[in-house]
Amino acid sequence: MQASQRISGILGGGSDGWDVFNKAREMIDTGTPVTELTIGEHDIRTAAPILQEMHRAALAGHTGYASIPGVAALRREVAQRVQERTGVPTTSENVMITPGGQSALFAAHIATCDAGDTALYLDPFYATYPGTIRGAGATPLCIQTHAEDAFQPRASDIAAHAKGAKSLLINTPNNPTGVVYSRATLDGIAQVCREEDLWLISDEVYDTQVWEGEHISPRALDGMAERTLVVGSMSKSHAMTGSRIGWVVGPRDIIDNLINLATHTTYGVPGFIQDAALFALQLGEEFEAEIAAPFRRRRDIAHKVLAGQNAVSLVPAQGAMYLMLDVRSTGMTGEDFAFALLEAHQIAVMPGESFGTAAAGHVRVAMTIEDSAFEAALKTLCSFAQSCQNDA
Ligand code: PMP
Repeated sequence: MQASQRISGILGGGSDGWDVFNKAREMIDTGTPVTELTIGEHDIRTAAPILQEMHRAALAGHTGYASIPGVAALRREVAQRVQERTGVPTTSENVMITPGGQSALFAAHIATCDAGDTALYLDPFYATYPGTIRGAGATPLCIQTHAEDAFQPRASDIAAHAKGAKSLLINTPNNPTGVVYSRATLDGIAQVCREEDLWLISDEVYDTQVWEGEHISPRALDGMAERTLVVGSMSKSHAMTGSRIGWVVGPRDIIDNLINLATHTTYGVPGFIQDAALFALQLGEEFEAEIAAPFRRRRDIAHKVLAGQNAVSLVPAQGAMYLMLDVRSTGMTGEDFAFALLEAHQIAVMPGESFGTAAAGHVRVAMTIEDSAFEAALKTLCSFAQSCQNDA
């Protein structure tokens, strides 16, 4: 018996981009310590008061089937948060709670694309994007951004691929580049979506991690609320990656359809998780700033370290928990550099090529280890790049 083409084709053939990561894991498993700067997970765990609320809610009996679109109080809280931050009128009916942002991305594509429809996304991309689109039955079509534009997408490039496409997926603040899309970029994207009648799926899971500029949700732009689905998550903003809690915000009829999808797939999110999420959201912006603070600090450290050398240059680190470093001066690909760095210094970073082709010759560094170890690793990375330059 054979698995369906849809599921067996999720990865689309070729490497899934995790080779360096897997090699690092192998080294760790066989006793070699590795400085892990690969994946986007905080070096702190979910805060104790949030876990206590989870515990309280479970003991109080919120362990049965929970409301599928999300418990009323949480949907209201998310609606209010989104309305306050974007100025767009938003009610509970515009919100569906999901098990994390990833399932929200999948649901958003199911909601907007029929089988075989073209779904656009931008290179470099978060690793799951093309597989998510294929899993939803649509056909992914990737549009390049350019290192010389600091990876801000060009509306003209999107327009050139938009004929007949159904949706466009964007992500700001961006993983893997750390770039925050400017108002001009988003205005250009919005215009293409209106002109070409595209759905815009806006992945905003890093919206609380902005170091430069401001986070603009395209749902707030003229004529965009009716064609935008915002994907949100508490994984990054509240250090709740393992709780699997996020949402889709969008037009009411799409949310009604998404509730039908959830009834036939996830059947909702555990009630005690939702209660803890409500509690966490009510901790307010100060708490979110506290969770984001280590990444802001480490980005400042990175600026200091990188100022003293010229082998590696930094793509403007405006948001999210990553640095994208240009290592092209070494003459190596990002992948060769990452493997060589792992071999020579047991430091694991992600090759830019893991995220498509636009960030070739770059490596992504997750700012997810303690400050002094982070600083030391970055210094080593820079002097290693310098020595590769000398060898070239
Ligand atoms: N989008 C982006 C850009 C991400 O980096 C991630 C997680 N790394 C997600 C979505 C999914 O996050 P989660 O499912 O934990 O909410």
